[in-house]
Amino acid sequence: MTPETNREETAGKKAARVELLGKSPEELAAFAESLGERAYRGRQIYHAIYAERKFDFAAMTNLPAALRERLGSEAQITLPEIQRRYRSEDGTVRYVLRLAGAGSSDNAGGARRSEAPATIETVFMPEENRQTICVSTQAGCAVDCGFCLTATLGLIRNLTAGEIVGQVLAALGDNAAALKPQTNIVLMGQGEPLLNYDAVVAALRVLLDPGAIAISPKHATLSTSGILPGIERLACERVRPKLAISLNASSDEQRDQVMPINRKYPLADLLAACKKYPLRPWERLTFEYVLLGGFNDSPEDARRVARLVGGLKAKVNLIPWNPGELPYEKPDAARIEEFRRILVDKGVLAFVRYSRGQDVMAACGQLALAETKAPLAQISPAP
Ligand code: SF4
Repeated sequence: MTPETNREETAGKKAARVELLGKSPEELAAFAESLGERAYRGRQIYHAIYAERKFDFAAMTNLPAALRERLGSEAQITLPEIQRRYRSEDGTVRYVLRLAGAGSSDNAGGARRSEAPATIETVFMPEENRQTICVSTQAGCAVDCGFCLTATLGLIRNLTAGEIVGQVLAALGDNAAALKPQTNIVLMGQGEPLLNYDAVVAALRVLLDPGAIAISPKHATLSTSGILPGIERLACERVRPKLAISLNASSDEQRDQVMPINRKYPLADLLAACKKYPLRPWERLTFEYVLLGGFNDSPEDARRVARLVGGLKAKVNLIPWNPGELPYEKPDAARIEEFRRILVDKGVLAFVRYSRGQDVMAACGQLALAETKAPLAQISPAP
């Protein structure tokens, strides 16, 4: 056998391994049974991966040695590879993560994990008592919002449930020495989560499971551009995060210009779906409104937004535009404050949120592999 043949066979065997990251307890129980083991072994693997954060089968000492060895040759747990880290002056870390792509098994969302390798971005934001992780759900995005650099990539591919969960585990692991007690996740990175519904929901079931990664649903937010069928499906989920709607305009005419998805799901339909959305007692909808200077930041816009969301149990987050490569201006501070005050005067809860990590292009609408275009302050390249 030539060394080349040997290498090909080894690669073939590796490709045939079953990817376990992202799998549910039921899927892992079925996997254990497929190996001739009892189903409870699958639940032990589930606990070891997500609750104990053990990604090496040899360390899963709750399993018999023979099973650990078999898992080592027949399965794999693949975290995304940290390709680059950029650390902002405010402590935010933007990760460029490499996803391995091809594997042999179905992911927990039901899609085959046969995609090409891809590069995505995840942002870790430390705060005094918590950390927030901004997670991508697709590589690139097809929704084509006019203020978003990710849109310039187009859709590269959907992520699997394991690749979504893996971003959280990779960011937590990389910051393990300084973690705060609470972790928040926001599905606001690259991609439209509701256009990768099954994988996103499968990932959320693991992320929000108290017996797994144990993030509270109160600390998890999914942000959508307004995909109505996805909102209606999410409303029926037993396990779900909070819902944020990316509004960004005060009329259909204006929203059509910056969010072409509005032509398919116009404001009246979107707000009707929001009215029907079953909020839990502690929950409010969030409307995100990127203030694009000179475009959607006038007092009249503020009054229209108040009329749109006025009857809803909701809050509005005003996000001043981050200057990027796109043709919008940064709104001035007085105009931002006037916008917020008009909303509050009309009884709408409104906050100004300044995006973090702007100096490393980690802010809202800036996740688009900018390191390929501008040499930012890179730190600690992955080994
Ligand atoms: S804002 Fe979100 S939905 Fe719109 S193009 Fe960017 S990533 Fe996609």
